[in-house]
Amino acid sequence: MAFSAQQPSTALTKLKETLSGEVVCPGDEGYDYGIARWSDNCVKQAGYVVFPKNNEDVVQAVRFARDQSLELAIYGGGHSYSGSSSTQGGVVIHLGKYINYARCDPEKRLLYVGGVEKVGMEHGLATVAGNVNHTGVGGLALGGGYGWLTGRYGMTVDNTVQYTVVLASGEVVTANETENPDLFWGCRGGGSNFGVVTEFVFKAHPQRPTVFVAHLLYTIDKLECLLNTIEDWYETAGPDEGLHWGCMRPGTPTLLVIYVYNGDTAEGRKAAKKLYDVGPVVEKAMEDLPYVKLNALQNEASAHGGRKYIKGLTTRSRTSVEAIQAVLQAQDEVIRSNPALVHCGVIFDYSPKQAVVAVPLEATAYAGRGTGAEGIIFQFFTDPTLDDSVQSQVRAWAQIVSEKTPVAFKAGKGGESYGVGYTNFDPDAAGSDAARVFGPNYKRLREVKRKYDPENVWNRWYPIEPAESV
Ligand SMILES: Cc1cc2nc3c(=O)[nH]c(=O)nc-3n(C[C@H](O)[C@H](O)[C@H](O)COP(=O)(O)OP(=O)(O)OC[C@H]3O[C@@H](n4cnc5c(N)ncnc54)[C@H](O)[C@@H]3O)c2cc1C
Repeated sequence: MAFSAQQPSTALTKLKETLSGEVVCPGDEGYDYGIARWSDNCVKQAGYVVFPKNNEDVVQAVRFARDQSLELAIYGGGHSYSGSSSTQGGVVIHLGKYINYARCDPEKRLLYVGGVEKVGMEHGLATVAGNVNHTGVGGLALGGGYGWLTGRYGMTVDNTVQYTVVLASGEVVTANETENPDLFWGCRGGGSNFGVVTEFVFKAHPQRPTVFVAHLLYTIDKLECLLNTIEDWYETAGPDEGLHWGCMRPGTPTLLVIYVYNGDTAEGRKAAKKLYDVGPVVEKAMEDLPYVKLNALQNEASAHGGRKYIKGLTTRSRTSVEAIQAVLQAQDEVIRSNPALVHCGVIFDYSPKQAVVAVPLEATAYAGRGTGAEGIIFQFFTDPTLDDSVQSQVRAWAQIVSEKTPVAFKAGKGGESYGVGYTNFDPDAAGSDAARVFGPNYKRLREVKRKYDPENVWNRWYPIEPAESV
């Protein structure tokens, strides 16, 4: 595409006249909202934030940015902690303000969703969504997507049947099994490499109205017994189960388990017995919890604001007790030397992976399929001068886990997984090596990139190098 750079003010006036939505610049009302992100350290001073109302607005925003040779970033829900939905001086296409609808076709069992998550439970239907319901559907659904329904239905990418994509050329295309099937394949795990997805269509599954949840707290001396119990349970966990465990601070570190059984209470209690047998100090059973409240349980602990540095960890074998003990000890030392760094910890998501690894690795662009748990190590803080030291400290904690965890990988039918583990938990996604992350799928991704984004306009998340022209 040829660039025809105009004076920004002329181009801006023209953009404002064309948009059904809005565009704001530094100092304008709505600008701070437009650049805010879940983590304050991902906020960047964009030159322009466009709030589109429809596909045509997105097309205009893309043209505006390309005509001015400005970097483009797409905001879905602003939760990426890699900063990939922000731009310094460029144009943010912000889907959170207007393109945030959800509608359900109960007969076809499909959910049509814009930029933000909503569910079809009024029709008794649900899809695989994240565990914290303020997370944006855009980044989550394009980069993989795990949730409480993963045990039965796999990942969000496995439950997506169609995308509407605004390409860098300004063309609006549909991608599904029959229309642009190569783009459809690429979007399922290839993230924001191909364009702005203005609509996702997800498979919706019958979902019972209530679930059983056990919320259990243990003292730290139970760590070894608890971890072994969880790992034993995980070996044979059923598709309707799921579990998160974490070590929480501030204060004396406490071990928290959230166990979910997508079934009736009596069966759930029976399935959770081993966890009760470990001896929690606090136990709260949420019997018949409405399903719609399940993904709100962790909202408060995952609130917006403050600075956050988080590193993802994918275990390829049983999590080592020794590794977790060593990390908790290292965190204690940091807190002792700087009490302001008290908000740190670890969390692991043990979604059963049978359905995830049942999908062949090459069937979608996502290459992180494996049977292990997905974890994060984190530090929340407020002082921007600590950014660099917190970053190296969290990386060092992650290193402890990978060094001390045996690497025997339990490959499932999906074969080996690649790269950094779960791409959506990687703080380096904006600059990481896509070849390493996408492994055997990278060659094909490069072909898809050449066809749909040959000039690499969408380059903020594991940028894929377009294949050379033949
Ligand atoms: C509190 C919290 C809880 C989480 N829980 C889960 C979980 O349960 N399961 C899980 O799988 N992950 C989870 N994650 C990780 C999550 O998947 C990623 O942070 C993801 O990037 C969030 O998507 P977003 O749209 O909010 O992010 P954004 O920061 O808006 O976007 C992330 C990336 O996706 C791109 N993007 C977003 N929307 C679009 C779109 N419509 N079209 C094209 N590109 C787009 C952006 O350009 C950017 O590169 C969680 C993260 C947080 C912070």
